[in-house]
Amino acid sequence: MTSEMNKFDTLLVANRGEIACRVMRTARRMGLKTVAVYSDADVNAHHVREADEAIRLGPAAARESYLNIDAVIEAAKRTGSGAIHPGYGFLSENGSFVSALEQAGIIFVGPPASAIAAMGDKSAAKARMANADVPLVPGYHGDNQDDALLFEEADKIGYPVMLKASAGGGGKGMRVVEKSAAFQAALEGCRRESRAAFGDDRMLIEKYLVQPRHVEVQVFCDAHGNGVYLFERDCSVQRRHQKVLEEAPAPGMTLELRQAMGNAAVRAAQEIGYVGAGTVEFLLDADGSFYFMEMNTRLQVEHPVTEMITGQDLVEWQLRVAMGEPLPCTQDELTITGHSFEARIYAEDPDQDFLPATGQLTRFTLDLAGAGLQSDQVRLDSGVESGDTVSMHYDPMLAKLIVHGVDRNAALATLNRALAALDVQGVITNRAFLQRLATHPAFKNLELDTRFIERHEATLFASHNYAPEDYASAALVGLHQLTQERESASPWDRHDGFRLNAPHTVRIALSDPKSSQSSENESPLVVVEGQRNPGEQSWRLTVNGQTFSASLTSLTGDAVAITLDGHRRRLQVQRDGNVLILVDPDGETRLVWQRMDAVDHGQHEVQASFTAPMHGTVVALLVEAGASVEKGMPLMVMEAMKMEHTMSAPANGQVENFHFKAGDTVSQGDVLLDFAPSE
Ligand code: ADP
Repeated sequence: MTSEMNKFDTLLVANRGEIACRVMRTARRMGLKTVAVYSDADVNAHHVREADEAIRLGPAAARESYLNIDAVIEAAKRTGSGAIHPGYGFLSENGSFVSALEQAGIIFVGPPASAIAAMGDKSAAKARMANADVPLVPGYHGDNQDDALLFEEADKIGYPVMLKASAGGGGKGMRVVEKSAAFQAALEGCRRESRAAFGDDRMLIEKYLVQPRHVEVQVFCDAHGNGVYLFERDCSVQRRHQKVLEEAPAPGMTLELRQAMGNAAVRAAQEIGYVGAGTVEFLLDADGSFYFMEMNTRLQVEHPVTEMITGQDLVEWQLRVAMGEPLPCTQDELTITGHSFEARIYAEDPDQDFLPATGQLTRFTLDLAGAGLQSDQVRLDSGVESGDTVSMHYDPMLAKLIVHGVDRNAALATLNRALAALDVQGVITNRAFLQRLATHPAFKNLELDTRFIERHEATLFASHNYAPEDYASAALVGLHQLTQERESASPWDRHDGFRLNAPHTVRIALSDPKSSQSSENESPLVVVEGQRNPGEQSWRLTVNGQTFSASLTSLTGDAVAITLDGHRRRLQVQRDGNVLILVDPDGETRLVWQRMDAVDHGQHEVQASFTAPMHGTVVALLVEAGASVEKGMPLMVMEAMKMEHTMSAPANGQVENFHFKAGDTVSQGDVLLDFAPSE
């Protein structure tokens, strides 16, 4: 086959989300026309907007759209696409898809069907790997599935052992067995799970490594017999056997180990006649021994960390190899520069067992300038933009944040800054969890293994322990916004007693957004008292008896500088509804900000009417008209500038009348309610 025969000028990407956008970016740079495919849930998705052309595949369910082989091939024919890039997931490791493309004369950007098949079955793959002299986890992967024989093999290996479904994947049909007494029950459980998930109940047994790291090698082969490795990635930080944070190169590798693993990975690929990008996954034991786990016959989610340290574009390599060209580099020409991390941004709630979240992303931005970062240090591979909807139909991964630094510590610091600069609103994400991971001392100290998250559960999921400085900062940000709004309005129109020059006290209630959602447990409120220093931009803030002299300066983008008693710190300010989020490279402070009462007038008489402090909407009336209330009791809530403001009773008395109901729009200065103090 000559390389001319393989040339194509239109590429269809049979995927969605960040990987579809990422592949099209390179294809466009190479002068190719790009074609997207979409389901009914993705009519206006980011990847569709990015493409030159797009074809509807079918309904939202993946089975009827992104997994529908006939529809994908039909889309390629309709658009004259000479090649299909499958991304990861969906049809990327589907042998029938690859065979159907071969039949249709469309180039598959990936390995031949035979190579996918060779790695598809864990037991068969292990047998092939043994053949190619690739080290395996000690264990049994034979055809004989007799109970007594399996039991005997497990004994020979020595406990703990791991049972795995030969046909398995995605962590299904997999179980750790601690002792021989538990073997039979585990075997039966795994077989049941595997039959249900894969229609096949063959098992293999492996020695269970107690503290291994997940280290994988990126390999590349062309159709001319060349094969290279592009070094390794450490993906030990996993939740439910799924990767969360990845880095390259793997820390602590010696040159010998890197070469030994790299060469074993290339041997593995060549053993099965591999062409294109592939990843050979190994378990690396504490003593430096490494064992083949599986080969992923596609581009991996975490490929960008390899691109960052090698300076190569792996999608470009894939497309060139698919066009029949030889590999762009030889092994000797590949080098490692610096260190890279990738953090996967998922729409999920880590505090609720990583439950996927949905909704509309009211904001999805990365404020690099505000975080003091350069664009060459950070890359955001995103499948979404502000305004997009996150549906429940597909994988909850929204984007990947990838950073580069001169060494691991520098890259980690950049990762923490970049995570702080990411502003996602409207949908719950794992951003703060990623920050807790990436700032964790054990992670920094290289205490890596596949059970990292489990081991550090207590600190990674800890409830928030904010310092008085955090409360003071949050109170100040809200106060600052409030005074700015007021100073832009005429001071003579003010009826709520919020006088800027009088030394009055404003009380701010701050509470944890999580606990205020659940009605059972009383949300812990922290009250900050603020007094504006007359004629100045500074405040005296009191938190739990501790007093700070505080001031705020706005910086670039979302960034502000907050000075507390002469200690100035730079923060990024984000808002999600009435939740105020202050982020810095060490993590985030997330608090509901509310004004406790309009103003404490001291000796002044209690006001009899309440006026709207600004334009906004009434969120809720908290008592009935005519109700007798005690001083400080919340009466109504209004929302303005995305923040909620609670009006509370200034004294014991009676609410005579409300002038608005929930949902009404009010203008600044409108009288909201009539109040009669009881004495
Ligand atoms: P799947 O194909 O279902 O994803 P893998 O075989 O790739 O399963 O294993 C997934 C994860 O399970 C690994 O990344 C590792 O954390 C853990 N694991 C697998 N085999 C072993 C083993 N023999 N000892 C210890 N942990 C293992």
